[in-house]
Amino acid sequence: MKIYLDGNPFAYDVEQTALALFPGRGPRAAADAPRPFDRTGDYGISRLTYTKRGVTAAFTLCLDGQTVTEICRENLGDSAEEREPEALARHAVRRSVYKAYAALTGEKPAWGALSGVRPAKLARRLMQAGMTPEEAEKRLRRGYYVRDDKARLAVSAAVCAETLSRELDPRDAALYVGIPFCPTRCAYCSFISKTAPSADAEAVVAYLDALRRELAAMGAGAAAAGARIRAVYIGGGTPTFLSAPQLSALMAEIRGDFALAPGCEFTVEAGRPDSLTEDKLRAVAEGGATRVSVNPQSFSNRVLAAIGRSHSAESVYDAFRAVRATGGMEINMDLIAGLPGDTAAGFAQSVSRTLELGPENVTVHTLALKKGSSFAERHQAQLSPQLIADMLSTAHRMLSEAGYAPYYLYRQKYSGGSFENVGWAKEEKICRYNVYMMEELLPVLAAGAGAVTKLSGDGTGRIERLTNPKYPADYCAAIGEILKKKTGLAGLFDGRTKSGETIERNENDEI
Ligand code: SF4
Repeated sequence: MKIYLDGNPFAYDVEQTALALFPGRGPRAAADAPRPFDRTGDYGISRLTYTKRGVTAAFTLCLDGQTVTEICRENLGDSAEEREPEALARHAVRRSVYKAYAALTGEKPAWGALSGVRPAKLARRLMQAGMTPEEAEKRLRRGYYVRDDKARLAVSAAVCAETLSRELDPRDAALYVGIPFCPTRCAYCSFISKTAPSADAEAVVAYLDALRRELAAMGAGAAAAGARIRAVYIGGGTPTFLSAPQLSALMAEIRGDFALAPGCEFTVEAGRPDSLTEDKLRAVAEGGATRVSVNPQSFSNRVLAAIGRSHSAESVYDAFRAVRATGGMEINMDLIAGLPGDTAAGFAQSVSRTLELGPENVTVHTLALKKGSSFAERHQAQLSPQLIADMLSTAHRMLSEAGYAPYYLYRQKYSGGSFENVGWAKEEKICRYNVYMMEELLPVLAAGAGAVTKLSGDGTGRIERLTNPKYPADYCAAIGEILKKKTGLAGLFDGRTKSGETIERNENDEI
């Protein structure tokens, strides 16, 4: 559906808010609106006028033959966080879109007028503008129409990020290393991960060689910049698909190439519990891992079979006990709400079994399927937003009662139901990498296929991205070019990192 702009230069804000509220209508903002506007079918008109004291935004929404217009006035100085005319105007525009949608449909989406994937960033900005956590929560509810429980989640994550940010040194960074291979492919997978017959397959060996070269180049750049790594995350794919010697070599390479801060967090994603063997666990522990992820996704063997996970719930117990027996490593576990064939009771059972094991971290994800994928079409019937919402609130209650607190979250963009993924941790047991990365507290140096290095150093708040080719074969073929780009890391902290391809939108402004 078309959304016409009348005196409103903020097409991005209009479109993002509309996409968050009614993604199924495919709203598109037209910067050059025709006159007169075409008022047939579904449409929207966003108007913006500047007044002496501030701005007035009006949004007219026509859906299924019903039309409503809502008006939002914002005055400069009325709110602590929007002192700039542009921020004020964008806020008014977003609110007007939300109000028109809510008035027309009677629906009150949980995240209100917010459309960004990082709602905790806004909560943090409010606190940095002088609000207490309670005031920030109230502002999210009243100013952005965020539901009480979501406002609490956002503020809780913001408080955690704010606390962590105070410990950071200007030369700190995080490191991500991607291993895009898995033993088999899960039916719902939307990642770039490839299956490989074995860890010594030619494609895997070639990939590890390219990765080693990239790590060495990046390490040299980071050393020249004086960078200190606060958290390492080896993710995937399934890193423990690699053999024990390959894991040892990779971890030794990282330790040799980068200056790790004392107490540096070092996470290895084991992901699929069936990929963990005793010798791999020993290699990971001896390589310096402080955390391992063991991801059940569900404790129902029927659900696991339906999503093509080639392991059973029993293998999760085995993997968990093996990590605990090895010692010295904390455990992250992931669950997914909304898996095909699952029920509210079945999901509650998965949460309960996870709590019995007592990992330090639990991340509750919501199944996000790419529209039009064959898996999405086959399993549409199971993806009732109400069922998923019930699963999430049950998990929320059970985790809270068991002494876990939410510490990071991100929203899924454009998904019906407006869901979010939330990381929960026992006291003092958060996975710092998740917060550094999600709240963009630190530059993230990233190596491997599809890895995105994010640098911020020019003082403008902009983020420079260096994106590696997505697929392992393309990555290996492009390694020469990648090595050249990574030489720019020498200017990591002083704004000389001008080798990136794109400048990302400043997400501080995307609310
Ligand atoms: S383990 Fe993760 S990356 Fe691998 S196939 Fe399954 S969903 Fe995809």
